[in-house]
Amino acid sequence: MHEFSLAEQVLAIVLAAAREHLLTRVAVVHIEIGQISGVSLEALTFAWEFVRSGDPLTAGAVLDIKQPAGHGKCAACGYDSVVTEPLRICPRCGLTQLEITAGLEFNVLSISGE
Ligand SMILES: [Zn+2]
Repeated sequence: MHEFSLAEQVLAIVLAAAREHLLTRVAVVHIEIGQISGVSLEALTFAWEFVRSGDPLTAGAVLDIKQPAGHGKCAACGYDSVVTEPLRICPRCGLTQLEITAGLEFNVLSISGE
């Protein structure tokens, strides 16, 4: 499962940051996942609840997920639009020159803990 490996990557980032900042417990992991990134939040949360228990530092850590909307800008006509699918077809001129400018993010932003 794709989300399982993403959850493992998040865990590795969080553990490294927690150790660097000498935390004894991570409470919240702030993460951004773009709305058109194709990541299932349900599957990711499920996978996270499994992988977090592998280390006492993260055993109680919950995910706080921000979801940037999808945006695209057409290189042909300049149209800037909200997009709901990761396609490159411009809704105005129909050419496949839409560049996705937001919505594909997958980043660990910060962690909170003590
Ligand atoms: Zn266009």
